[in-house]
Amino acid sequence: MGLSKTIWATPSELLRTQQPENPVMFFSPAVLQATAKVFIEGFPGFVTYAVKSNPDEMVIQNLVAAGIRGFDVASPHEIAMVGRLAPGAALHYNNPVRSRSEIAFAVAHGVKSYSVDSHSELAKLAEQVPVEGCEISVRFKLPVAGAAYNFGAKFGATVELAAELLAEVARLGYIPSLTFHPGTQCTDPMAWDSYIRAAADICRVSGVKARRLNVGGGFPSHRLNDVVPHLDAIFALIDRVSTEAFGADRPQLVCEPGRGLVAESMTLAARIKAIRDDNHVFLNDGVYGGMTELPMIGIIDRAEVISPDGIRRSGEGRDRTCFGPTCDSVDRLPGELTMPSDAEEGDYLVLHGMGAYSTATNTRFNGFGEMTIATVLSLH
Ligand SMILES: *Cc1c(COP(=O)(O)O)cnc(C)c1O
Repeated sequence: MGLSKTIWATPSELLRTQQPENPVMFFSPAVLQATAKVFIEGFPGFVTYAVKSNPDEMVIQNLVAAGIRGFDVASPHEIAMVGRLAPGAALHYNNPVRSRSEIAFAVAHGVKSYSVDSHSELAKLAEQVPVEGCEISVRFKLPVAGAAYNFGAKFGATVELAAELLAEVARLGYIPSLTFHPGTQCTDPMAWDSYIRAAADICRVSGVKARRLNVGGGFPSHRLNDVVPHLDAIFALIDRVSTEAFGADRPQLVCEPGRGLVAESMTLAARIKAIRDDNHVFLNDGVYGGMTELPMIGIIDRAEVISPDGIRRSGEGRDRTCFGPTCDSVDRLPGELTMPSDAEEGDYLVLHGMGAYSTATNTRFNGFGEMTIATVLSLH
């Protein structure tokens, strides 16, 4: 497909003129920068971006242009890339398990903020990370409901262990801070409430005043037509509860959204390869491609169907079972997706809010997964 033009007006302009045979991810820099401004202006603290959710260089560049000055990085590759694209930005190495060579790489690249959730990993950091000006945040977890899946299943110290670790961090001479991740796609602001209160308890038990509290990612994106996320309500709750829990010792706040920042800026178009027996819809993209996350987090129903002439199908809604292109029977979208009854083979299924955990986890399984990213002025 000849993508000679670099910026398109809308997805349907590209679909009509190019009729792409492979999936296309449409990127709106304007939407990304507007979402970044919502966080920068609304969040009561320092906003960093969780690079893993979408590490595309255009994404990083547009976040820098919008004023994002901090990045949550998890690997030497992310450290090097952000160091190149956002020189001078703060790098928070918040993957709590690192090899000794990864730690050496981070120290050499000027990383000054690390997270930790175990005594053994703290000892590893202390061997190499200079004390002067370096922050170590203790990551803790609670048994919590309200997230699409549980981030505490892999990382995070219990409250008791976190208190020990925080005291140890302070004793070693590092800047002591706390961090947590409430889980991803938390539509209920209460997901943050108990975590912030537990953070204050950890400070009281350990006798250490935390410099900063990183309230994680987990900010929701708009996935279902009927569930509109309210970032303002979440920001307000975080602000209020931090003051209630910590009083005069309130730490500086940090957040590290991935999904909440980037999801809305990308829209995915997948072509309908076949509609079998007026029931099953086969797409040229699926769970091994840009839709990897849907079986774990749930379907996105913000869908349109566009004909090859760029016309939006408007038939009455009909529930369809959708499959991806590979020969693996797991390659199926969860539940059913409502599509207009006049959708046809050769049309494009267009899904909005697809910018997070999609381009980065796209595979080439079974020879599929060739995906283009096209920049658009408007996603609608
Ligand atoms: C993945 C991750 C994030 C981003 O999570 P979202 O739910 O996408 O906002 C933030 N912090 C850490 C430590 C992560 O691993």
